[in-house]
Amino acid sequence: MTIIKVQKGTKDILPEDMPVWHFMEEKANEVFTKYGAKEIRTPIFEATELFARGVGDTTDIVNKEMYTFEKSERSLTLRPENTAGVVRSFIENGMHRLSAPVKLWYKGPMFRYERPQAGRQRQFHQVGVEVFGIEQSTADAEVILMAVNYLKALGLNDLSVELNSLGCPECREVFKTKLKEAIKPYLNELCPDCQARYEKNPLRLLDCKVPECKEIYSKPGIQAVIQSDFICEPCANHFNELKGYLDTLGIKYSVNKLLVRGLDYYNRTVFEITSNNLGSQNAVCGGGRYDSLVKNLGGEDIPAIGFAMGMERLASLIGQKKDSKLSAYVVCNNPIEGLKLTEELRANGITAEFDLTNKKFVKQLEKASKVADFAVILGEDEIKSCSVTVKNLDNSEQKNINRTELNKELFVK
Ligand code: ATP
Ligand code: MG
Repeated sequence: MTIIKVQKGTKDILPEDMPVWHFMEEKANEVFTKYGAKEIRTPIFEATELFARGVGDTTDIVNKEMYTFEKSERSLTLRPENTAGVVRSFIENGMHRLSAPVKLWYKGPMFRYERPQAGRQRQFHQVGVEVFGIEQSTADAEVILMAVNYLKALGLNDLSVELNSLGCPECREVFKTKLKEAIKPYLNELCPDCQARYEKNPLRLLDCKVPECKEIYSKPGIQAVIQSDFICEPCANHFNELKGYLDTLGIKYSVNKLLVRGLDYYNRTVFEITSNNLGSQNAVCGGGRYDSLVKNLGGEDIPAIGFAMGMERLASLIGQKKDSKLSAYVVCNNPIEGLKLTEELRANGITAEFDLTNKKFVKQLEKASKVADFAVILGEDEIKSCSVTVKNLDNSEQKNINRTELNKELFVK
């Protein structure tokens, strides 16, 4: 008899994989609860209409990737993402009456009919957060902090945060028109997907992975439009405030004007966190603000912002990390100060150790280069000046920084 195999693009999560999955789930509960978020679990299938309206019918997800089926003359779809479901539940359960912000987090399986490859499955898992009711950029900053601190709690560093502002529907309209004008002469040379996007969703053109299209979009005339500061004053203020908060909080980021994100509902802030250890499917987290979605799905006019992370991608990073190194090894001949600093790092989710036997500096440094990514050196001078010297043990680069800067140095390698 032929053996029935697991379906293409799906995987068993076996008993030996479970410790990593429990770890990711427990840390999610622990970290998001600290921010006042509560867990929500919505059904795996919903009315197809919810995703058509909620995710947007010009997106790849709705156009090509949905698992849709009929039952009792109803069209149902396995959820490709969880924001639409959470928003439906928010509206249906009158959560707008709760005092804002309403912070929800979730975890669970999602389904997308895509071409399976490393880091891309047809059933995969996401953990995510949605924060409702705050229009100010403080919420954007806090949501990005939640993502970054969750990743830190998982012991992951070597990550990059990319940020962009898509503006509001008004200023984006002007941008779309200019972008279309600049691209028009090349319309016939674009891939079939981009030809369709050109009319339906021109922003998504920037997201195309086809090399010929990418080359066209890198032409100076088109780049000038892409790189222009098209967003209106209130949107620009919102974005500048957010960048200010992140600077103050010590979160490193870069602005990427090509970052448009796949879903239709985003406005203003969008962000992505990528890992440098994942190959081509390197995004671990995608998020953004979606101020019109609650209203579009029939609720009150309530702003919101959130993110989702791919748990299989997190698991593979944690797996690599498990048999690899500590983030930091503290090198110090003053046991009290050394212990204090090591504890401070651990409290911030950074894996760290310290030599408890007070060996010579050189010996401690030797040990650091064997067991850690970074040596954090705390000598007499550093203690006096409230600084530390951080040595990247891959390339031996070292710099003296203020102690308050330490977290971000160890997060982004
Ligand atoms: P991409 O442009 O790579 O298709 P996306 O915009 O579809 O990404 P999101 O919908 O924002 O991705 O999902 C958030 C995160 O979920 C991604 O950053 C990724 O880590 C994970 N993810 C998305 N699709 C898959 C998939 N098919 N398999 C595994 N993980 C996925
Ligand atoms: Mg996708």
